[in-house]
Amino acid sequence: MGTVVRITIYAENDSSIKPAFARIAQLDDELSDYKADSELNRVCRTAYDRPVRVSGDLFRVLKAAQKLAQRSDGAFDVTIGPVTHLWRQGKLPDRETLGRVGWRNVVLRDHTVMLKVAGMQLDLGGIAKGFAADEALKVLRARGVRRALVAISGDIAAGDPPPGESGWTIAVEPSGENISLRNAAISTSGDTEQFLESGGVRYSHIIDPKTGLGLTNRAVVTVIAPRGIDADSLATAISVMGEERGREMAARFYKRSRIMIANR
Ligand code: ADP
Ligand code: MG
Repeated sequence: MGTVVRITIYAENDSSIKPAFARIAQLDDELSDYKADSELNRVCRTAYDRPVRVSGDLFRVLKAAQKLAQRSDGAFDVTIGPVTHLWRQGKLPDRETLGRVGWRNVVLRDHTVMLKVAGMQLDLGGIAKGFAADEALKVLRARGVRRALVAISGDIAAGDPPPGESGWTIAVEPSGENISLRNAAISTSGDTEQFLESGGVRYSHIIDPKTGLGLTNRAVVTVIAPRGIDADSLATAISVMGEERGREMAARFYKRSRIMIANR
């Protein structure tokens, strides 16, 4: 996932750690758009106009992504890949590229994926890390390790707290405020470390699908939710939607989430 994964546990021994990392490596093989041979990229090459059967993981993540695309009125859109791939080369998109973007052109049915436009590229960078954190926690729990914390850069999933504590203490950037977290997830989006500078403007790696441009506001959005898959994707979506619309959507569809927004 192009980043550091840190797993912290309280347990008799460390035998659960390897399987937890192995699960994350498996998800990386399935969901990464950086690896040419990931399942995701194979699907992008073969699913134009033809339903392709996919793994349970990929199907679940795409289902969740599509649900949020609808709820956010397209602010969250994993078909943004053609734009993010140009972004990584320091380029802004042209009309042809934007024509290959649009969440409504992904069809999910019976564990298959079909893409309705040639040259579409899916990018799960705004949702996969949160999901992977959830799944690593699940592996640990299945092995009896409940006091655990999985942190995939800014996407963190927490299980039961350390012994004698009521939660895991997480410092939220940029305020530095401490949050106590247990059996819940937290994600922060809009880190100003990843940006592209063009014509004197700083574009974030979070793209507004309506314009194809990286965000230029410097808001940092943090979301706490029961699951990492939601915290991660919501933080990205709300970054695009802005505070008012973002809070409205969360109040309507994600009642158990908490949102913090800081403007740099
Ligand atoms: P980070 O990767 O720093 O944790 P995010 O969770 O906000 O930050 O994810 C940003 C990534 O999500 C981008 O690098 C890109 O891969 C993808 N992305 C960018 N814009 C969107 C969007 N509008 N909807 C869904 N995914 C996006
Ligand atoms: Mg995210």
